[in-house]
Amino acid sequence: MNAEIISVGTELLLGQVVNTDTTIVARELSALGINLLYSAVVGDNVERLKLAVETAISRSGLLIMTGGLGPTTDDLTKETTAACAGRKLVLHQPSLDRILNYFNEKKVSSNQEKQAWLPEGCTVFQNDNGTAPGCAFQAQSGCTIIMLPGPPSELEPMLRNYVVPFLKQDQEWVIVSHNVHIYGRGEAPVAQMMDDLMNGENPTLAPYAKEGECYLRVTAKAHTEEEADQMCQPLIQEIKRRLGDFVYSVDVESLEELVVQKLVDQGKKLATAESCTGGLLAKRITDVPGSSAVFDMGCVTYANEAKEALLSVDHGTLERYGAVSEETAREMAEGIVRRSGSDIGVGITGIAGPDGGTAEKPVGLIYIALSDGEHTWVTKRSPIGRTKSRAWHRHCAASQALDMVRRYLDGLPVIAE
Ligand code: ATP
Repeated sequence: MNAEIISVGTELLLGQVVNTDTTIVARELSALGINLLYSAVVGDNVERLKLAVETAISRSGLLIMTGGLGPTTDDLTKETTAACAGRKLVLHQPSLDRILNYFNEKKVSSNQEKQAWLPEGCTVFQNDNGTAPGCAFQAQSGCTIIMLPGPPSELEPMLRNYVVPFLKQDQEWVIVSHNVHIYGRGEAPVAQMMDDLMNGENPTLAPYAKEGECYLRVTAKAHTEEEADQMCQPLIQEIKRRLGDFVYSVDVESLEELVVQKLVDQGKKLATAESCTGGLLAKRITDVPGSSAVFDMGCVTYANEAKEALLSVDHGTLERYGAVSEETAREMAEGIVRRSGSDIGVGITGIAGPDGGTAEKPVGLIYIALSDGEHTWVTKRSPIGRTKSRAWHRHCAASQALDMVRRYLDGLPVIAE
């Protein structure tokens, strides 16, 4: 089935709101194996919306509309679309009851009530996080039209909980996707290594870039979920065989999630000592629910004095080699292990930029150390290629530290070759 999306809202055209609804819907359609062929944004204007809807329903099997279902006068998606499809709006009493219940009132204004007027005979999707229900109905052309509320916090759960099951009813096929996450090899070389695997039709293989890393999506289509899953497995094994320990997970979405999981499994604790990343590594770890069981403490030691006072970095080391050096990173990692009593300590020091670089120590030069109290490993990140942002350097340094911890916990060489 071919689909299109129309997002309604002048605020989207003015650049005041980023159109995340389309991204959310597009991802779900792709996971369902529905081809998305067009996506448009239309302002709050009846004539232009009418034109867009008429075009869409004449050429597509599925039209998903987002926004403009609310109580205000510029919310005109429902009225316009129902008119294009030749349907009248009727009061849907259960939706009105939900709105009354939401406001804890016996009566609401006509504006609020407007939200409970839906195309006659439609399937209603209740809104568990707001007042405007969504709905689905068929146009005379045979196109299925689905209307969803604009706020992503309302759209996303409605889509997952009600719309996806609704769309699955009519699907002959089940689509299963697995994401193979890779750290330490970029999207381009990975794609090149997988070139001969990329032409398959079922399962398919596609590379995607992620900030400082990449992943490969393996997707198969079959009559049952089990069958589709089994079709993915040989390709996943082949990817792992080719990429070896650069594959850090299948379907665990981030390095921090994986590291926390592994620390929990192994009953180990981690502590961090950060300079140029300013606590980003600790933040990413503590973003993961359950990290309190494995994360002891994190010190942000920006100043040399703090490195000496909190981590016992030697004054002479800082004078001789500087704050951004292999030696300082090593002493930071060892210092935090001693101070916290954790099993693993990580130290990060570098130059995130945009200022502060020299010919000898350029922006992007970052040292990352991991210590278990007995051994310490230090990686040097050197800037390569085009100039990257401060945020990029910090993110990548934190990712590399997480990858070192992952490697240590897996008994792999801590520093990738
Ligand atoms: P409401 O009941 O809030 O009026 P609605 O379905 O009428 O819901 P809109 O009025 O179109 O939705 O948008 C309400 C808010 O939802 C917008 O101000 C914006 O913050 C957010 N929103 C709308 N469309 C999108 C979109 N495509 N992507 C991201 N956010 C959106």
